[in-house]
Amino acid sequence: MPSVCMPSVLEVEDLKTYFPVRTGLLRRTVGQVHAVDGVSFAIGAGETLGLVGESGCGKTTVGRSVLRLIEPTAGVIRLGGRDITRLGRAELRPLRREMQIIFQDPFSSLNPRMRAGDIVGEPLKVHGTVHGTVPAAERRDRVAALFSRVGLSQAQMDNYPHQFSGGQRQRIGVARALALNPKLIVCDEPVSALDVSIQAQVINLLTDLQRELGLSYLFISHNLAVVEHISHRIVVMYLGRIVEHTDRETLFRRPLHPYTEALLAAVPVPDPAARRAKRVLQGDVPSPLHPPAGCHFHTRCPYAEARCRSETPRLREIEPGHHVACHLR
Ligand code: SF4
Repeated sequence: MPSVCMPSVLEVEDLKTYFPVRTGLLRRTVGQVHAVDGVSFAIGAGETLGLVGESGCGKTTVGRSVLRLIEPTAGVIRLGGRDITRLGRAELRPLRREMQIIFQDPFSSLNPRMRAGDIVGEPLKVHGTVHGTVPAAERRDRVAALFSRVGLSQAQMDNYPHQFSGGQRQRIGVARALALNPKLIVCDEPVSALDVSIQAQVINLLTDLQRELGLSYLFISHNLAVVEHISHRIVVMYLGRIVEHTDRETLFRRPLHPYTEALLAAVPVPDPAARRAKRVLQGDVPSPLHPPAGCHFHTRCPYAEARCRSETPRLREIEPGHHVACHLR
């Protein structure tokens, strides 16, 4: 695992991303969805930070805010030590090379009318490299090298997306993300749409690439079992806030937040003798437009007390490197 002392590739401080809710003919603002509500973390070089939570917890919005694909409402985002939170489009453009994204659905994220080689080479055409534009012949050579790096053959460069399997399409997505030699890749549920047998292949590919290229990943998933295989540290989110943040081993060995406990209870354990105590989550995630007061989790928490309904628990360092937001810890 990377040392905590190493410089961060990405630092996020008190990030807030709110979306206005508008109704009526005049589109008057009647409220705000606090999709991300004061989230802080850092990712070191060659490190993977897993970001988990149920659908609607704000994890995808964190990923897109970090890349400035969505405008954050408040907070600070630093890439390689540089504050990029309020940079304009022109200033942001050269930095786009350093941060890329792999999307969840490899089919809908690939243009069906483009050949796979053109899809992977497109970022080179649009952004070039730090040394300028890349001539067409050199671009084709680089795309061929990317194809072989992600386990595809050069002959497949002329195929269209529908001619690939789901796993191969995600390999195209990975190759496209690698084209500009980024430092950081946001992986937004990159294996959720794939069969379980194929998921492991894509995870292994991402792990190998990280080892070879020193990449940093923000790996977003609703599935703790998937995150376990790739993450060095894990952040658990619930309704826009971080509820627990620690290293992978500690999270799986000694989860301290009731929500993490419940997520872990849902992870299948191969050895029945080692089955975890079941604390199945009751009910759905409340609406982020009207989140419960106090601890957002109190409507589903089996340990909730009176103060949980009115006081928001702060994220505190309970033991070295282990942060939890719960009044009982
Ligand atoms: Fe449960 Fe209260 Fe802890 Fe929230 S603060 S997780 S409601 S015990």
